Amino acid sequence: MSLRKLKSMVFLAVFITAQFVVAASFELESGFNATQEKTLRADLNALASLNIESTDPWFQKIFGGSSGRHVYNYLDERVNYFIPWTSDITGSVWPAPYFPPPTEMRDANGKVIAALSAYNMGADLFFINLKYWDDYTTVYLLNSFSRRLKLDSPRVGLVEIGPRYFERLNPADPNQKIPTSRIERMALLVHEARHSDCSGGLNRPDIDRVRYGRPIENLQCGYAHVKCPVGHKFENIEACENLKWGAFAVESVFLSAIVNSCKNCSAEDISEARAILQVRRSQVLNWDQLHSGTAGEPDMSSRGANWDK
Ligand SMILES: [Zn+2]
Repeated sequence: MSLRKLKSMVFLAVFITAQFVVAASFELESGFNATQEKTLRADLNALASLNIESTDPWFQKIFGGSSGRHVYNYLDERVNYFIPWTSDITGSVWPAPYFPPPTEMRDANGKVIAALSAYNMGADLFFINLKYWDDYTTVYLLNSFSRRLKLDSPRVGLVEIGPRYFERLNPADPNQKIPTSRIERMALLVHEARHSDCSGGLNRPDIDRVRYGRPIENLQCGYAHVKCPVGHKFENIEACENLKWGAFAVESVFLSAIVNSCKNCSAEDISEARAILQVRRSQVLNWDQLHSGTAGEPDMSSRGANWDK
């Protein structure tokens, strides 16, 4: 066999392995069109092959290493299923009712003014399971593979992908749509994955709060957002965070590694990462305390409900 032929076979083998890793680790529910599916799978592959050598100690603590492969593994641990926004899962949650948040917001004239990028349904469904526990014991989601997914931990890893994941309004001309950048898409995946963590788990008093519809005390369970303060660009919208390394903070650490150390990113990728990072910094209200270490270390563990505590 010629050396050239051997080399091309080796290349093919590596290519097939990379495809296989993604296909085996993440399942896409039916409803994505061919282009959307291709984009999402390409993003997962791109994430794994990002040539990052981050020297940021926070990056290493969060992702357990310094490379794109570590970010991919972080995602793999927390996300298992991608669900398209077009699939109506309301009737698939059994037997509890579930009404996911709207995927679009329209103005008085019916024009779309905001659309969903991505949403971690697993975290939401975990809370629903706790709420209905006495009546149903466990709430299940019947997915498109006709398998029952037990919703007893946010690490069930169900992420809904919204229309804005693929395209967004053009800031220069709101009547036009432009593709969402691949850096933004990857950052969204990293962000959503963090909502799969229930660090410390939920103890009995918090379980009772969930059941009576009151806010929980352990906000590191699901890492939900809070309303941004008065004067903020996103004033009164639940798009800010004041937690110990929540989803926006983790996303920022990822973006910062792209800006500082990505060797296979284009100049466009890097300037995009820098622009998003600037916005994220404003959304992480305790940015300085996190980065100086006074807010403490990230807890990357996850537990479900601690019924006995
Ligand atoms: Zn979020």
